[in-house]
Amino acid sequence: MRPPDHIIVIGSGIGGMTAAIVLSELGHRVTVVEKNKLPGGLMRSYARKGMDCEVGVHYVGAMDDGQPLRQIFDLLGISGRIPFFRLGDGGVVDRYILPDMTFDFPPGVDLFEENLHRAFPEENRQIAGVIATIRSTIQRFSLSSILFGEKTEFNLSTELQPLESYFDKLGCSQKLRSILSVPLAWIGVGPEECPLYLWSSSISSYLMSSWKPVHPGAHMADTLTARLRELGGELICDDPVLKIRVRNHVVQGVVLKSGKTLDSPVVIAAVHPKIMIRMLPEDSYKPAFKNRIASLEETPGIFAAHIAVPDDKVSYRPYNTFVLDDAHALHGGVTFFTMNKSAKQGWNVVSVLEESPFEKWMGWENTTKDHRTRDYRETKEHEANILLDKAANVLGSMPGAYVVDSFTPLSFRDWMDSPRGGAYGVCRSVSQKFKTAALHRTPIEGLHLVGQSVFAPGILGTALGTLRVLAPLIGHDTLHQKFIDAGIKGI
Ligand SMILES: Cc1cc2nc3c(=O)[nH]c(=O)nc-3n(C[C@H](O)[C@H](O)[C@H](O)COP(=O)(O)OP(=O)(O)OC[C@H]3O[C@@H](n4cnc5c(N)ncnc54)[C@H](O)[C@@H]3O)c2cc1C
Repeated sequence: MRPPDHIIVIGSGIGGMTAAIVLSELGHRVTVVEKNKLPGGLMRSYARKGMDCEVGVHYVGAMDDGQPLRQIFDLLGISGRIPFFRLGDGGVVDRYILPDMTFDFPPGVDLFEENLHRAFPEENRQIAGVIATIRSTIQRFSLSSILFGEKTEFNLSTELQPLESYFDKLGCSQKLRSILSVPLAWIGVGPEECPLYLWSSSISSYLMSSWKPVHPGAHMADTLTARLRELGGELICDDPVLKIRVRNHVVQGVVLKSGKTLDSPVVIAAVHPKIMIRMLPEDSYKPAFKNRIASLEETPGIFAAHIAVPDDKVSYRPYNTFVLDDAHALHGGVTFFTMNKSAKQGWNVVSVLEESPFEKWMGWENTTKDHRTRDYRETKEHEANILLDKAANVLGSMPGAYVVDSFTPLSFRDWMDSPRGGAYGVCRSVSQKFKTAALHRTPIEGLHLVGQSVFAPGILGTALGTLRVLAPLIGHDTLHQKFIDAGIKGI
């Protein structure tokens, strides 16, 4: 791929925007096509009653100087423009509340080790094993090894074993497993199916450093858009890609809902793989490809409520809270709470999130976001009130608090085109390891898949996965040079 090829990127989430900005920086002419009126996908917050409601960015890991997400933001030229504050003042990034204990997830591995020893004095050997795994993951967690193939010790059979069997081998108690499994809530796969490497990368990234955006997610989305435009890139919103044009198994461009046709020898689909395949002509791939994609299992859906709380009655908490049902984080019994300062004077917003199976909402599957039925709205209101009560259990009395808005797996399905409303794309489980191994590759020349399904979910996982797909396309040396030109050290 040589500049100035015209490149089309489908989808303006963090995956699409990462690809679009890097390619624009390299001198390509890039057009991002987004189906929604506003760009950003899951990253984008929305406003209700003067309050910002976050969707898919509550906090991120590994953003300290020299850490991977900071280096990626430096590469994209957005580091200084999207301010974050560091979590962990007072020793707490996340507070885990179980029926009979409270555990603080602190900033840094040393403090984590200390807290584990304090909470589980009988499990010194198990904790030593866990901490050794985390330290070794952090040591290898660099862009040099992930993008540029610097040799590290990565033993496939160890790294791909289910987290549950790793816990079994260490002999961890049920409660220790529950505590250690909480970060799986951000991956959407349980310990019996989560590969060890995915858990260890996720927990390690937050132990490297944890950060919360100062501004709402819409600001992040708009900053990425501004950066793209300043590099000469184009963004078309409110015009979904209906078809990817293919001739003789080579991509030609796309057709938009408006009827507009765009030509391009390279199309980067930053959407769910099942959405990408719907855009392709049936004769452009073999049935086996379609069957493989169609059979991929999704991550679970999420129900969330945004609750307005008066700031003089409920004090601001600079940490997140996870409440674990009956001491088990193991099977989705986790409720997440986070508080954001609001632009509306006198109010803060508490976002409460819980896993919610698509099946629960399937009765309304055939409704669209502007035409939901009354019983759907009533069910949503009922569920949101349950989360309001749960918030009161965690935060104490909240006079005047009320639900600003809530969203369901159907909201996800319609907002970002996520099949069955899965929050984190395709489930990167041990059982699907072969099916998901090279998901970014398509049978069509010039068509590449990026986004949260191809490598790992999360802002870091999605951006990193996107760069992994781009590296061989643009050339590892070219990408490497780009990091050096941007003044990024340690690459
Ligand atoms: C509730 C929730 C909370 C989360 N919290 C965090 C967190 O705190 N920290 C963190 O790091 N990660 C978090 N994540 C995960 C993170 O938000 C995602 O992994 C990441 O944003 C996914 O980015 P993406 O680009 O792959 O997909 P998306 O953001 O979904 O982008 C895909 C885009 O493609 C567009 N699209 C779809 N079809 C078409 C079409 N036909 N034509 C044009 N455009 C199309 C969609 O509209 C969308 O804009 C959270 C996720 C969820 C669901």
